[in-house]
Amino acid sequence: SRIQFKTIDDQSLRAWPLPMPPTDGDKEQRGRAIVIGGSREVPGAVLLAANAVLHAGAGKVTLAVGASIAPQLALAIPESRVIALPETEAGAIAPESAQILESVLSRADSILIGPGMQHEESVCAFVEKALPMAGGAKIILDASAMALVRSQPQYAQRLEETALADGFLRRYAAQVLLTPHAGEMAHLTGLDKEEIASDSATIAMTAAQRWNATIALKGGRTFIAAPGGQLWLHEGGNVGLAVSGSGDTLAGIIAGLAARGAPLEQACVWGVALHARAGEYLASHSGPMGYLIRDLSAKIPMLMHQLS
Ligand code: AMP
Ligand code: MG
Repeated sequence: SRIQFKTIDDQSLRAWPLPMPPTDGDKEQRGRAIVIGGSREVPGAVLLAANAVLHAGAGKVTLAVGASIAPQLALAIPESRVIALPETEAGAIAPESAQILESVLSRADSILIGPGMQHEESVCAFVEKALPMAGGAKIILDASAMALVRSQPQYAQRLEETALADGFLRRYAAQVLLTPHAGEMAHLTGLDKEEIASDSATIAMTAAQRWNATIALKGGRTFIAAPGGQLWLHEGGNVGLAVSGSGDTLAGIIAGLAARGAPLEQACVWGVALHARAGEYLASHSGPMGYLIRDLSAKIPMLMHQLS
């Protein structure tokens, strides 16, 4: 039987407009996003994600990053609040430092964890401590933060069961988004990359059910599967987007839209489309190869406006 999906295009986006703040709204009404990520070796992922959060229209962005990179990021993103977290010897965010973020996490509208984070084990330990502190926030797990689903053995053992009553993500019912590319999905599921590429729609849907999360399975084509069964396909962008920092920017756009009040599925559908369109814009102005990902998010306001 053929799998049913909706296509992400101008028509479907216009039919599902993003929430707008009232014209006399203040920054609180435009939403508060938290970006947790970075490492001594990869601080720039947080810079890209935070810029994307702001260009997607969120009112406030807080960065929670390792102490050794915090001052530099604070200056690079003057609009942000920056919380410096204790680090492990290797330069990762120390898992215990999640405690410091309790009040910040409880008041966030969206929380992005993962861009540039290194050392999967400490990342998982951190995420496990941080997630229960998130009040009503929409949570986007990217890059190494997604490995949480691997570190929970109950997922591996009951992959085919949808009734994960005592499962970990179950508690965060439908408010988590994971954004794996095929290689990451292979790592999370134990399938091989070719298998994933050849059956990406089914795999995205199965993962959404198993993990009770929205899944964006990224690539030249991106499938977005929601835990309720909805499936979206996006085709667009160009190979200029296949470069370091691209996914960090996408995750930031989604976190920004979610902070503004878009439900996760909508933030993801719109975010994937805007990210690709920004790539198309840069390609048409400077050629498809070699444009810089750091230039991507500045195009988002105009592209959003065109669709409103
Ligand atoms: P990441 O691998 O996490 O940096 O994410 C890469 C981003 O670029 C994802 O949003 C992909 O969908 C997008 N992307 C990668 N390759 C292509 C391609 N050939 N055409 C269009 N988009 C792509
Ligand atoms: Mg990535």
